[in-house]
Amino acid sequence: MSSGLWRNANLATLAGGPGADLGVIEGGALAVSEGRIAWAGPEAELPAGFNLLPATDCRGGWILPAFVDCHTHLVFAGDRAREFEMRLAGAGYEEIARAGGGILSSVAAVRAASEDELVAASLPRLDALLAGGVGTVEIKSGYGLTIEAELKMLRAARRLGALRPARVVTTWLAAHATPPEYRGRNAAYIGEVAIPGLEAAHREGLVDAVDGFCETIAFSPNELAPLFARARALGLPVKLHAEQLSNSGGAAFAAGFGALSCDHLEHLDAAGIAAMRGAGATAVLLPGAYYTLRETQAPPAAALRAAGVPIAVATDLNPGTSPLASLLLAMNLAATLFRLTVPECLAGVTREAARALGLSADTGTIEAGKSADFTVWQISSPAELVYWIGLVPAHTRIFRGTPAC
Ligand SMILES: [Zn+2]
Repeated sequence: MSSGLWRNANLATLAGGPGADLGVIEGGALAVSEGRIAWAGPEAELPAGFNLLPATDCRGGWILPAFVDCHTHLVFAGDRAREFEMRLAGAGYEEIARAGGGILSSVAAVRAASEDELVAASLPRLDALLAGGVGTVEIKSGYGLTIEAELKMLRAARRLGALRPARVVTTWLAAHATPPEYRGRNAAYIGEVAIPGLEAAHREGLVDAVDGFCETIAFSPNELAPLFARARALGLPVKLHAEQLSNSGGAAFAAGFGALSCDHLEHLDAAGIAAMRGAGATAVLLPGAYYTLRETQAPPAAALRAAGVPIAVATDLNPGTSPLASLLLAMNLAATLFRLTVPECLAGVTREAARALGLSADTGTIEAGKSADFTVWQISSPAELVYWIGLVPAHTRIFRGTPAC
C-alpha cells in the first residue's frame, strides 16, 4: 500500500450532500497513508509529519475524486455496428431482427464465447473508461440469460477487476430480457433461471447487487417481485432500469424494496420521484442511451433536483443502445441534453455514483479515511471536464494511493 503527498494542487473534494458545490480548496494538498486519504486541505495548514512523505508536485493542477461509472454492460461479445449501419440506411426493427440483430444477437454471441474470450473482448472497453479518469466500474450480467452464461459473464467481470488497477462491482441482471426458449413465459424464466442463478452466483461470491429491466418489452413489477424479494432475503441491494421508454411504475416498485438506484427515468412521474425520495434511492441518468435512441422526453432533472433526490450520471456502456465508453462525454451529454449543471455532472460521476453503488463510505469524494482514488487533471477549472467533447485533458490517475496510468 502506497503513501505520499500530492502538493501544489487545487482540490475539488465533492464532499457534501446533494446540491452541494464542488468543495474547492485552492492551494491544496492531499496526504495518503497506506492507500487511504489521510488528510486533504490547504497546503499552508498541512499537519506536521505529512511533509516528510514522498511528495508529488501537481503544478497547479486539479485533484478530483476518481470517477465512478455506476451503470455499464461492458462485458459482451461481438458488437452491433452492423445493426447501427442498417438503421441509418433505413431498416426498421423487424428487418434488423430478421437479420439476426437486436439484443438476442448479443445473447447468442455471449453464449458462444468462452470466459477468456469475454475477458479479452471487454478489456479494451474497461481500459477506455479508465483512460477517462474512472476508478470504479459497475458491470452487469444480462446477455447470457441461462444460469451458466450469466455466471460466466460475472466471472469475466471479476477477472477484469483483477487485471487492472480499478474497483469492479458486479450486478446480477438475468432479468434483462426473455430468452427465445422462454418467450411468453416471463414468470417461468424468473422462477427457473433468474432466481436459482442468483442463488448460485451469490454462493460463488459473484454478486454485489441485483437489477432488472422493468418495461413493457421486458418485465413487469409483478414479474420482478419474487426476484427482488429473494435478493433482499440474501442481503443483496436492488436497483432497476425504470421508466425508460414508458412509465411502468418501476421506480415506486423498486423504492418499495429499498433500491439503491433507479436508472434511465425518462418517463418518471411525481409519484415515482416521491417514492425514490422516501427510499433514499439515487436517480442514475444515462444520456448515452437517450442520445443513441434519439429520445425526445428527457428525464425530469429539475423535479429530481427540487425533491433533493441524488442524481448520478453513467455511460450505460452496451453494444445496442449506448456504445459510449467515456464518462467525460457522458457528463457533456448530461449537461447539454438534460441541463445538469457542472457541479451536478461532476457530483454525478463521483459522490452520487458511489452512493448509487452503496460505496459512499469507501470512494467518490476526497475525504480522510476513504480509499485514495483520485485524478490529477491539468486543467484550468473543473468545468473543463464537462466542456470538452472528445478531448481527454492530461492527467494522472491514482488508485488506492498508487499512480495507475
Ligand atoms: Zn442498462
